[in-house]
This record gives sequence, structure tokens and C-alpha cells, in this order.
Amino acid sequence: MCRQSALGAAFGPPSLRSGPGGAWTILKNPLAAVDECLMETAFAGVLGAIFGSFLNVVAHRLPRRESLVAPASHCVACGTAIKPYDNIPVLSWLLLRGRCRSCGTRISARYPLVEAGTAALCVAVVLAKSSGVGLALGLAMVLLLVPAAAIDLDHKRIPNAITLPGCLIAIVLGFALDASGEPARLLAGLGAGGAFLLVTLISPRGMGMGDVKLATMIGLFLGAAVIPAVMIALLSGVLVGGAVIARVGVSAGRKTAVPFGPFLALGALIALFAGHPIMHWYSTSVVH
Ligand SMILES: [Zn+2]
Repeated sequence: MCRQSALGAAFGPPSLRSGPGGAWTILKNPLAAVDECLMETAFAGVLGAIFGSFLNVVAHRLPRRESLVAPASHCVACGTAIKPYDNIPVLSWLLLRGRCRSCGTRISARYPLVEAGTAALCVAVVLAKSSGVGLALGLAMVLLLVPAAAIDLDHKRIPNAITLPGCLIAIVLGFALDASGEPARLLAGLGAGGAFLLVTLISPRGMGMGDVKLATMIGLFLGAAVIPAVMIALLSGVLVGGAVIARVGVSAGRKTAVPFGPFLALGALIALFAGHPIMHWYSTSVVH
């Protein structure tokens, strides 16, 4: 959101600049705008890392049907409760060199990576989206996709506890912030979900109902950009599946179930930032 306001305030026509016009305003405002942008970006990064820390808890506890709030975070090896100063996203892991303070057991690098990744994605959404609806839908989708992909990687399933509230959040935010655009997003959700349901019914081996619900959720968030999202997901899934088969052979490769959720999440994230340019490129360069 800050990019447009910052650039508009700094370099836009006088009607966009705040305060009375004149040389001083033009000299002073770029700095103020850059300051505001830095603040928004830093805020998004810090908040994103804190959310990422919580998403680690969700990804670990949700599939095990454990409470998300109690007990407080503890070392899985020795059970010692993690002190607040050892629970700072990314930093604590680096300071402790990836080990528990009391027993020295290695702590997976995935925890700081999820925190840093969530922070980076939140910053990217804040920088890329200029409208309130784009910002809200983008941030909500990022925070739902991260645990969905992590859980699917570990457990080869995507919990309804993520996709069903996710669909509801997309519809409520979409209606509240941009009612006129909602029919297109509903159509995209139904279309993507319907297509995946068809594939699942024809070939139950490849995909599951979790993928059907995740595709529906992504359509409700992205609208028409769900098309490049699914294309990228299928393409990257086929490439990785092919690489697995090339390494272990056809019969063993067929038995190695590669979960499709992470590919759907990857496609959705690329489409979130580049979906419309991709669709424009496709319609002008490939179709014509
Ligand atoms: Zn420990």
C-alpha cells in the first residue's frame, strides 16, 4: 500500500501531494514518503515474523489435534518451557545456533525459515498491493497457505481447519471490501474447486479432497488469477514428479506420493504477485 501513497505523494500531480504546493513541499515530501514507506515495511516484516512463529505452532500442533494456545512452547526433546527471550522469531534461533538452551538438542532450521519466509511474504504483499481489498486478501491468503503447505509436506493431508475457515474469510473480506468484485471471485473458487473435484473423481490416486478445498480457497482469494496459479502448480508438480521418477524409477516413483498442496501454494503465491501480468502476456503473446 505504501508504494503508491509514497510515490503519489512525492512525484504525483499537485492534487495528490499533501499540504500546500511549492518547492519546499516537493523537497520535503519525498523524505516523509520514504520514511512512511520504511515504517510500513518494517512493521509488516516484524508482524509477519511473529505470525510466522505462530504458524510454526499451527503446523506442528494442528495435525496432532493439540491445543494451539496451551501448553506454552517447549523443547520437544527435554520438555523445558522456552523462555520469552529465547522465543524471538529468527533471532533466537541464530543466537542459540539452532540448539535448545537447556539440553542442546538441534532445533530444525525450518522454524526460522518459516518465520523469515512469512515475514518476507507479508512485506512483499504490503509493497505490491495498493488497494485495501488487495492488501487484506493477500495477507490472509499468505497466512493460510504457509501452514497448509507445511502440514501437507509432513502429513500428506490439508486440514479442513485451514481450508474451510479460509474460504469463509475470503468471502467475508471480499464482500466487505469489494462487493462488486465478489461474483468473479466466487466463480473462480467454484471453477477451480469443480475442476479439481472432477480430476479427483476420475483419478483418485493423484489428488485428494484436501487439494479440492485448497484450490477452491485459492480461487476465492485470487479471482481470475487462479488460472495461472493452477497452471504453475501443475507445471511445477509435473517437473518435480518427473524428477522423482527419473531418480527412483517409474514403479517406485508412482508409489512415492508427492503432496500437491505445496505446489498449489507456490502457484498461488506467484499468481498473487504476477497473476495479471502473466494473464496479459498469455492473452497477447500466446493466444494471438
Ligand atoms: Zn531441550
